[in-house]
Amino acid sequence: MINIKHHGATSGVTGSCHELSLQTESASGLESAEHGIFIDCGLFQGQDEGRSASAADLTIDFPIDHIRALLVTHVHIDHVGRIPYLLAAGFEGPIVCSEPSAVMLPEILEDALKIGFTRDRRLIERVLGLIRERLVPVPYGQWHRVFDEGECSLSVRLQRAGHILGSAYVECDARIGDMEERIVFSGDLGAPHSPLLPAPKSPERADRLVIESTYGDHDHEDRKTRRHRLKAVLKSALADGGTVLVPAFSIGRTQELLYEIEGIIADSSEPGFDWRSLEIVVDSPLAANFTRIYRDLKPFWDAEARERVRSGRHPLSFEQLTVIDSHEDHLNAVDYLARSHRSCVVLAGSGMCAGGRVVNYLKAMLGDERNDVLFVGYQAAGTPGRDILNYGPKGGWLTLDGERYDIRARVHQVGGYSAHAGQSDLLRFVEGIPEVPEEIRIVHGDSGAKAAFRALLEETFNTRIMIPE
Ligand SMILES: [Zn+2]
Repeated sequence: MINIKHHGATSGVTGSCHELSLQTESASGLESAEHGIFIDCGLFQGQDEGRSASAADLTIDFPIDHIRALLVTHVHIDHVGRIPYLLAAGFEGPIVCSEPSAVMLPEILEDALKIGFTRDRRLIERVLGLIRERLVPVPYGQWHRVFDEGECSLSVRLQRAGHILGSAYVECDARIGDMEERIVFSGDLGAPHSPLLPAPKSPERADRLVIESTYGDHDHEDRKTRRHRLKAVLKSALADGGTVLVPAFSIGRTQELLYEIEGIIADSSEPGFDWRSLEIVVDSPLAANFTRIYRDLKPFWDAEARERVRSGRHPLSFEQLTVIDSHEDHLNAVDYLARSHRSCVVLAGSGMCAGGRVVNYLKAMLGDERNDVLFVGYQAAGTPGRDILNYGPKGGWLTLDGERYDIRARVHQVGGYSAHAGQSDLLRFVEGIPEVPEEIRIVHGDSGAKAAFRALLEETFNTRIMIPE
């Protein structure tokens, strides 16, 4: 029997962890053996944390003895954050991922360990050492044998998912005796016109498909519209001398935005506006680190981005860009920008304002109408980001660290830098599979988004569609 199980990302959008296992029985039917893999092992975030006590969220409370490998689709923390706990639970198999993910995974986990696991430097180094030893980078498009037990075998192939650098969807060829099946796990899929990365192509075959549905209920603005809107927000910031605060995840959106802003600065010339005087600050050592890694991995960029480089531009290291590293410089920047009348765009994490340096900026800047908060990514229910988005436009307030802050800054949302496929993109991904899968499982989304995507799939295909609990 070939089984798919879900240990996360069914009741919400985070904590992704899926299992594919092959169960064989002896001729007498008395003895059975099971071999499996995990696809991702992520942390719960936002309201999903409320699923249970947070300590219980971290424990690996499902069997792992039969797990032969962990497949990582991409290095967002909601897909990899529980890896240290998986190791602590005794997992000894390899961690299979794309080549860029292998570069980024120890970096993102080092940060996660420092925040949530321990401050003990030696312990952190030991965990990171273990992770580096286990990493097995596999080039896109190449089959990799995970195990072959004679009776049953499993091979996997990674394909570009266009979500963040290194992201992949996973094709799994599972075989028990003469029975063969191709199962595809989408991971997170990118939008086809996102900057920097090539668009995902549909799998050539999927007997069963497990697909994400973060934006299963709506489409994003197209790239031209959102670039236009981004430009308008930046322009008004330039005009009134305020700060545009962009809460952004360190990996993916930050680099996409930098890329887009470089494009706007390079292409815009309007009388009365000096685009070149607009300052861009990345206030996050982690984001700065990943921006460097993105720069180093240019072979994985899409054709348009590589063309910009060939023409002598530096999409991720242009002259208006400043990077803030130390905590002291960060505090100085918050203070200076809150008092000065200098136009500036600040990118800081966390993307949902649930912690990180962006919180200090919010406290200092929400009360001033010259400032703008620009959301570019998904804001999970229960996060301060969602509160600002809900109450900000009505002139409301929110609490941060137990204190009340009025929201006078303007609040904007530009969809599409979310690095996630919209509804039509998800549908196209499924439609592009030459033969309709026998079963489609919808995971990773609010219940409304999943239900909407399910209804759309049911309208379009005559096949089994389910939302696992
Ligand atoms: Zn992701």
